Amino acid sequence: MKKRILLLLCIVGAVAICGCSAFENGHTTSSRNTTSFFAMDTYMEITTPLLDDPSILENAKTHVQDLDALLSVTNENSELWKLNHAGGKTVTLSSETVDILSEALSYCDETHGALNIALYPIVCKWGFTTGNYQVPTKAQLDSLLPLCDYTKIDIDGNDVTIDKDMALDLGAIAKGYASDKLASYLRTEGVDSALIVLGGNVYALGEKTKDTPWKIGVQSPSGNGVAGTLALRNQAAVTSGSYERYFEENGVTYHHIIDPSTGYPAESGLVSVTIVSESGTMGDALSTAIFVMGCDEAITYWREHEGFEMILITDDDELIYTEGLSDIFTPSMGYETKIITN
Ligand code: AMP
Ligand code: MG
Repeated sequence: MKKRILLLLCIVGAVAICGCSAFENGHTTSSRNTTSFFAMDTYMEITTPLLDDPSILENAKTHVQDLDALLSVTNENSELWKLNHAGGKTVTLSSETVDILSEALSYCDETHGALNIALYPIVCKWGFTTGNYQVPTKAQLDSLLPLCDYTKIDIDGNDVTIDKDMALDLGAIAKGYASDKLASYLRTEGVDSALIVLGGNVYALGEKTKDTPWKIGVQSPSGNGVAGTLALRNQAAVTSGSYERYFEENGVTYHHIIDPSTGYPAESGLVSVTIVSESGTMGDALSTAIFVMGCDEAITYWREHEGFEMILITDDDELIYTEGLSDIFTPSMGYETKIITN
């Protein structure tokens, strides 16, 4: 298994953030504060201009760790674990967990199940959250598919019930949700400039410096450099890619984004989807769902919905992006590009 931890590398920021050895955990330079940590199964980094009160960044880190403790599918003390192991009984959850569950469910509905937070029995069978990789038989997948019905999740206030053998996984949305929470917390603390990098979920708060946006690189799926750069202000950029997490067996590659209609890794012709949106939650939900949909369905979905732009990279190296990004996205040389209009 190979796992690329950072999907989006900061390019202009990169020289400052990723490439500078002076930036260690909690380290302060004359111009910036940064904190780096591991949570939600990924490397995270938050960078701000020099803060009067650097404890703000420590608190931000604690916020993400607290969310991870609620939502982790593998942590036996998490609320999600409690729900997944309740044997069909109703569980009373915190408002935070109910909030993300409700948001996630609305994206499951809107994407007609391309995002499916009830897919955990199948994700688990493949071993993607545990690391015990295996290729299930079609019969095994067919017997698990009926358990993955997100419409059976019942939320009544803080009381949540799922069927006995169901299990939920918020891995497709939790980091985007966390990035929104962090941006909102930092704004409350008066921080008006920050780069929040939670694995492949990036939130660019404000500008890097006056009149200069944050510059974000969209990783090339081949691993060589970047497919293009985005200039962002108060926006999230979230990437889902088949190259992020996968294993190989008998020469076949199996990646971690599952098509809920088959139980197999989605073969949609896409290898990478980046969503740009003011909402990190929307970006994360849609990056996964649109990966499953594939190019044509994704374009129809974009034309019918507001609030996001997208960059698609196909398995034959075509780079397709929506017209709203024309002024802020610069594709790298070497890609055949196409701009989608309304
Ligand atoms: P992301 O990296 O945001 O695209 O999320 C991928 C993760 O979400 C996977 O590692 C699984 O844990 C889970 N997952 C895989 N396929 C789906 C799907 N179709 N809907 C919801 N979650 C999924
Ligand atoms: Mg996602």
